[in-house]
Amino acid sequence: MKVAVIGGGAAGFFAAISSKQHHPEAEVILFEKGYKLLSKVKVSGGGRCNVTHACFDGNQLTKHYPRGEKFLKKAFGQFSTTDTVEWFETRGVELKTEEDGRMFPITDHSQTIINCLTDKASQLGVRLELQNAVLYIDRIENGFNLSLKDETHFFVNKIIVATGGSPKLEGFEWLRELGHKIEPPVPSLFTFNMPEEKIKELMGVVVENATIKVQGTKLKQSGPLLITHWGMSGPAILKTSAWGARILSDLNYNFKIQVNWLGEAKENDVRSLIQEQQANHHKRMVVNRNPFGLPARLWEFLLQKNELRDNITWGEIGQKGINKLVNTLLNDVYEVKGKTTFKEEFVTCGGIALSEVSNSTMESKIVPGLYFAGEVMDIDGITGGFNFQSAWTTGFIAGKLLNGSSI
Ligand SMILES: Cc1cc2nc3c(=O)[nH]c(=O)nc-3n(C[C@H](O)[C@H](O)[C@H](O)COP(=O)(O)OP(=O)(O)OC[C@H]3O[C@@H](n4cnc5c(N)ncnc54)[C@H](O)[C@@H]3O)c2cc1C
Repeated sequence: MKVAVIGGGAAGFFAAISSKQHHPEAEVILFEKGYKLLSKVKVSGGGRCNVTHACFDGNQLTKHYPRGEKFLKKAFGQFSTTDTVEWFETRGVELKTEEDGRMFPITDHSQTIINCLTDKASQLGVRLELQNAVLYIDRIENGFNLSLKDETHFFVNKIIVATGGSPKLEGFEWLRELGHKIEPPVPSLFTFNMPEEKIKELMGVVVENATIKVQGTKLKQSGPLLITHWGMSGPAILKTSAWGARILSDLNYNFKIQVNWLGEAKENDVRSLIQEQQANHHKRMVVNRNPFGLPARLWEFLLQKNELRDNITWGEIGQKGINKLVNTLLNDVYEVKGKTTFKEEFVTCGGIALSEVSNSTMESKIVPGLYFAGEVMDIDGITGGFNFQSAWTTGFIAGKLLNGSSI
């Protein structure tokens, strides 16, 4: 059996290694269009490679995927985070968990992961074809004819497509021509630009738990929020961008958000805290006594936004002032105009429609013998190691080349 794995990223390597492990007799050739292998692994996690996330319950794990949640449920039953940790450990790479659940190699170096994958592939006899893109796939009897960039053709019995995301629909044309439906690609994981908002002056300020709502939609996410010199970032914003990738693209990245600076706090909670200040601290200046635990620079900014003068006391604030303050704390509106990529880290929402892929084998339901792995499918996760986890899982399963057809 000849197997072509197309794409030398995380999913492609895992698929090639898994093919050789499950079918030692097979000839496995990995085609990579670039001259470097595993280039995203190299730069990932700030050069440390956030391999996976310490979430060991399959059902919980799927909740971190805006696209692919249902599809991955079954797949994680075959290869999950526990398997990833074990897989690397038994090949000499120990992983550690950071406070927020992200898992990295203990060396803090992505090269450790690259060395592990390339060494294993070489030991098993995976053949690597660098700088040789697969341009076209023809279905022929018992297999496929690949047209390669170097103008040669190559016959294989099975193909695993692991070519990653593509920002443009044209990038999927060769797969669409095989009969596959493509969910149009749009970016996910980006930060919000607010060119006209003064809040940018507070760059560097972090709020531990804010809730973001996108006006006119059902999008709502909570988490830490970071003010940057071009707008807002941090987990609350990145999660909103991931879950709302398609909606925000339709809005052409021009929309308004409502920020609840106090996370999930409700009006009654805020009013009773204010009453307490008025009863017990009526002579203290509002600017100096901030009962909500917000960063001082933000508290000052929100008071100025409501034209509450610098030296006003809790006793002097008045009903009108209280109402304005409550509204700003819970429903502060900002205009978003455009987006910026988060630390160059992004994933594509969209790709091969999951309805046409088996979630127990990764085989195409349209073209028998053709398999998919990784981000080329309409699967993407939020930040934290979830994107690599789906690449390992789907690569491992695709490499098993089940289904028994024409082996
Ligand atoms: C800067 C950055 C940092 C990231 N950090 C993290 C992180 O820390 N943790 C995390 O979970 N996720 C992270 N991600 C997301 C993660 O890198 C991707 O989700 C993951 O790499 C997808 O793996 P893949 O193998 O499916 O695709 P890719 O890694 O994109 O690999 C696809 C490969 O296929 C090749 N290819 C494409 N077309 C062809 C063709 N026709 N013929 C031959 N070869 C072809 C490409 O050149 C590429 O090498 C990060 C992404 C970026 C951009």
